[in-house]
Amino acid sequence: METRVLGQTGLEVSLIGFGGIPIQRCNQWEVDEIVENLIEEGVNFIDTARAYTNSEEMIGEALKQWGREHFYLATKTPKLSYDEVMADVKTSLAELQTDTIDLYQFHNAKTMTDYETIMSPGGGYDALVDCKKQGLIKHIGITSHSYEVLDRALDEDKFETIQFPYNIIENRGAPLFEKAKSKNVGVIIMKPLAGGAFIHANYALRWVAENPNISVLIPGMDSVKQVLKNTRVGNDFVPLTDDERETLEADAKALGKTFCRRCGYCAPCPQGIDIPMQFIVEGYYRRYDLEEWALDRYRSFVANASDCIQCGECEPRCPYDLPIRDMLKKTRDLFDPLL
Ligand code: SF4
Ligand code: SF4
Repeated sequence: METRVLGQTGLEVSLIGFGGIPIQRCNQWEVDEIVENLIEEGVNFIDTARAYTNSEEMIGEALKQWGREHFYLATKTPKLSYDEVMADVKTSLAELQTDTIDLYQFHNAKTMTDYETIMSPGGGYDALVDCKKQGLIKHIGITSHSYEVLDRALDEDKFETIQFPYNIIENRGAPLFEKAKSKNVGVIIMKPLAGGAFIHANYALRWVAENPNISVLIPGMDSVKQVLKNTRVGNDFVPLTDDERETLEADAKALGKTFCRRCGYCAPCPQGIDIPMQFIVEGYYRRYDLEEWALDRYRSFVANASDCIQCGECEPRCPYDLPIRDMLKKTRDLFDPLL
């Protein structure tokens, strides 16, 4: 497996890492099998999150069987305040059944206000600094769907890694990665397969891996078959041929640009709808096969797609000009008959 250095963390990580979202629908024995195959294929980087329900717990169980020493573990918290972040680190340590976590990240700092809350004196960032001093974590990173938030994080030189979506369709991260490289900040790529949207997954992963400023790609995987398919990219990495590139470009063209990138710019909605969350759960339902979980999440929202009054206030704020009202109608039509 090709390895690259994860910026100033100095960790030598496998080009293909493991994204821990989709295992939420797996049984423990399936996760055990996946982890066994990750080791066999040379994957040494696992990324999960407090927010992925039982993902940390199942990974912790599997590592008890196969050995913690095979992996660098990364996880993350959506919390912003000192006390809440501190509590999440302790929970992650318990769930992962480990004494130390290699990389702890802030999970999707959505807006500059979130970022400023994290960085304020006595905020979440200070909690991670204290955890690092105590040896509970080894490195501090940040993930976001907002280019501006990560750009500011890089300007302030406080983080050892950034995590951002990148693939042939969502491709605006390249200058950010160049800047990260110049500051020796590690770059982790989420959504290299655009949530599983590409037909030619191998080409899509290689397109991302061709960028030398990127350290590790973390496609979500929930089967041994996917592990074997995706790790082939790192075990036998070759740049795309012209024909393969053309095929991938045709895939991308067919997919179009009409999908939510989760930047959050469309907020606030006067009805209290968390617009990107509507599309996230819809994607989980349709693409990740997490029907029950997605439906539960949809039910739990204070307001959802069926509360949209079609006022249109959100649409001019969407940088991708998405037809949010029409998309919400499709979300509503998917979920409402199931409620
Ligand atoms: S169109 Fe719907 S989702 Fe958009 S702001 Fe109005 S009520 Fe909210
Ligand atoms: S609907 Fe548009 S503005 Fe809202 S989160 Fe998605 S991409 Fe961003």
